[in-house]
Amino acid sequence: MQILDGKALAAKIRKKAADDVASLKNKGITPGLAVVLVGDDPASHTYVKMKEKACEETGIYSIVHKMPIDISEAKILETIEMMNQNPNIDGILIQLPLPAHIDTQKVLNTVSPEKDVDGFHPFNVGNLVLDIDSFVPCTPLGVMKLLEEYDIHPKGMDACVVGASNIVGKPMMHLLLNKFATVDICHIYTKDLKTHTSRADLLIVGVGKQNLITKDMVKEGAIVIDIGINKTDEGKITGDVDFENVAPKCSYITPVPGGVGPMTIAMLLVNTINAARKR
Ligand code: NAD
Repeated sequence: MQILDGKALAAKIRKKAADDVASLKNKGITPGLAVVLVGDDPASHTYVKMKEKACEETGIYSIVHKMPIDISEAKILETIEMMNQNPNIDGILIQLPLPAHIDTQKVLNTVSPEKDVDGFHPFNVGNLVLDIDSFVPCTPLGVMKLLEEYDIHPKGMDACVVGASNIVGKPMMHLLLNKFATVDICHIYTKDLKTHTSRADLLIVGVGKQNLITKDMVKEGAIVIDIGINKTDEGKITGDVDFENVAPKCSYITPVPGGVGPMTIAMLLVNTINAARKR
């Protein structure tokens, strides 16, 4: 069994990102990322702080628009329009979730597709489905980079994605399909999860439920990628896979923390730099 070390790969990617930013700066371009953060959700604030710090370390200019929880939708849209027009901003990120009174899709649709570094705009989603080069959501993109780093090629594999959200599971499914894997996608209404997971050569899980995937649900020699982030009662971070018991059965597995998480932030930097290159 080999660990897929996302932390190490992310550090390597971030180092290269800093070099790329330095050469862009030599050409007079400082990549810029704007973040919209609404409300007081502690997890969202933590994620945004991590993103800000990563930008700072890489030399990317970043600005966070913090808004109160009762902000109007019109005000959010106005702020996005302003950033769409701002030539110093290459990437716009809407930290999710937004409060219930806001139409999330309408907000995401307002971000210019050229600045949509999260890959959530329908234009970029469509490009992903058609396998046209464009912005791809950072977490599934990070998973693909991690597989690539370890010379793992999904072509011809039976893959199973557990979790079907717009930001994790669905783009993951399309990326794997674009690489010619045969993909099963499971969700809360899947009748018998184990039937699907246990035949997968490549099992990718992003649900948010500790120990959802147990040893009996995994094929011998499978590659297991755990996207889930859960906090135990003791305050420990874990994924969705029962790592201790599943790992001995795997050919490769990601740890949590230190697997997919660091890759997500690294991919945000890469997407922002790529947006700046197109200025
Ligand atoms: P979400 O709540 O939007 O989606 C969860 C998905 O899991 C849904 O499709 C739902 O149908 C499915 N699901 C729920 N219970 C299930 C069950 N018992 N069996 C099978 N499927 C089930 O969540 P999300 O935003 O997609 O995030 C999923 C997980 O990934 C969370 O733990 C989140 O914290 C984590 N995440 C991690 C990163 C990272 O960088 N590592 C990034 C984004 C999200």
